[in-house]
Amino acid sequence: MNRKAGIIGAGPNGLAAAVVLRQAGLQVDVLEAEATPGGAARTMELTLPGYRHDFGAAVYPLGAGSPFFSSLPLRDYGLEWIHSPAPLAHPFDDGTAVVLERDLSDTEASLGVDGKVWRKLIQPFVERWSEFAPDVLRPVPAYPNHPWLMARFGMSAILPARTIARRFRNEHTQALFAGLAAHSFLSLDEPLSAAPGLLMAVLAHAVGWPVPRGGSQSLTDALCRYLATLGGKVKTSSRVETLSALPGYDLLLCDVTPRQLLKLAGERLSDHYKHRLQAYRYGPGVFKVDYALHAPIPWKASDCGRAVTLHLGGSFEEIAASEQAVRDGRHADRPFVLLAQPSLFDSSRAPQGKHTAWAYCHVPHGSNTNVLSKLEDQIERFAPGFRDCVATRHVSSPADLERMDANLVGGDIAGGVMDIRQFLFRPTWKHYATSAKDIYICSSSTPPGGGVHGMCGYHAAKMALSRLKLS
Ligand SMILES: Cc1cc2nc3c(=O)[nH]c(=O)nc-3n(C[C@H](O)[C@H](O)[C@H](O)COP(=O)(O)OP(=O)(O)OC[C@H]3O[C@@H](n4cnc5c(N)ncnc54)[C@H](O)[C@@H]3O)c2cc1C
Repeated sequence: MNRKAGIIGAGPNGLAAAVVLRQAGLQVDVLEAEATPGGAARTMELTLPGYRHDFGAAVYPLGAGSPFFSSLPLRDYGLEWIHSPAPLAHPFDDGTAVVLERDLSDTEASLGVDGKVWRKLIQPFVERWSEFAPDVLRPVPAYPNHPWLMARFGMSAILPARTIARRFRNEHTQALFAGLAAHSFLSLDEPLSAAPGLLMAVLAHAVGWPVPRGGSQSLTDALCRYLATLGGKVKTSSRVETLSALPGYDLLLCDVTPRQLLKLAGERLSDHYKHRLQAYRYGPGVFKVDYALHAPIPWKASDCGRAVTLHLGGSFEEIAASEQAVRDGRHADRPFVLLAQPSLFDSSRAPQGKHTAWAYCHVPHGSNTNVLSKLEDQIERFAPGFRDCVATRHVSSPADLERMDANLVGGDIAGGVMDIRQFLFRPTWKHYATSAKDIYICSSSTPPGGGVHGMCGYHAAKMALSRLKLS
């Protein structure tokens, strides 16, 4: 086989596409702008020597649940998933916390009056995750492999998160669901805002919410090492300014978002397709802080120490107000904060006895407002004395994030809004294909969207191969 593919961008989706194409026998070059591969799955000493921080993704329900990553021997190339005793804790002002346990029966028991409703909502997809995952982590299939399962999921997923939360009687369960649904970046009153909430809950019970030992870079490095054994090459510090500078490739797969694709391939694309890309909508940004800590975070609720991930925002109504503000282009007074504490479960992240924490909140797209004190007030609210544990911090505004990974346009970590239109037509009805038959887009701006799962790259590569009649 002497066909040659160029991949622009070594994020998880670019690397996934590279592996699929190389497995099919194509020669593959991956060209990455930054000095280290991984995109938003990199780990860096952002604060002090010996403290390893995840620049982007930190917690990997989608990575562990990815049908494509699970098909690769990544463990042989250094990837090890570490599970905290509980995937998630959601603390309240009264010093208690609701905990999403790994085991569905344990969660059912801990949710009391809401336990049975929780089980009914989630159980079918937990039990059949390996069959369900290929259907749900792809463009909406006209003919799903498991139509009844997909229909059942779709009927709940399409609803606003508030509608699902009303099924619970306890305010704490409602708040738990609000935090999960806030991963949608939508208002919790918008259709489809329930979808990520359900998916995250299913994943917690089906595969857990693990972190890679050593940080996100371990997953990226495992993918790169595996690709290298297949004969694929990753060239770092190689930013591509225009695809016309890359002659000799039969296929070009771009792990970039629509705005970047317009710059890279503008003259190769039809006016109609360019118009569609120009109409693509990006979502809110994030304001992120990485901490080097003298000590573990002093949570009021001791259960918080069992979970790698914390959702800090209090009640359903508070979280809903925070997400509504951001959706309306405003800063929330009390932002909903997502926090990870990987060093509690992975000692390789910090010097002995020391710790790291990773936290972010949603802010309007491209915001340059410093919300550090609001973010830390939310942590202090549930962990009084937190600020005293901080040795130093590294703050990233949306613009800082975009400077370190060009795909994070305006600080949008999901590759574009995921409302109903952009869920179905992501970034256009052609999904991975463009108007040029040798150019494809394979980033999280294609189905199934944001998260480290590699499924956008996998499906883009499969489509390219089938059009070359190679699969
Ligand atoms: C702060 C933050 C927190 C997150 N938390 C989580 C989480 O906990 N769990 C989770 O699953 N997901 C999380 N995500 C989302 C997840 O990281 C992304 O959805 C995922 O990385 C998308 O993969 P990708 O390959 O599409 O793009 P990216 O990872 O963004 O990679 C794109 C790559 O393309 C390169 N590139 C761009 N333009 C060019 C060019 N012109 N030439 C060459 N190279 C180029 C970039 O440098 C980059 O390396 C988070 C993201 C961020 C930023």
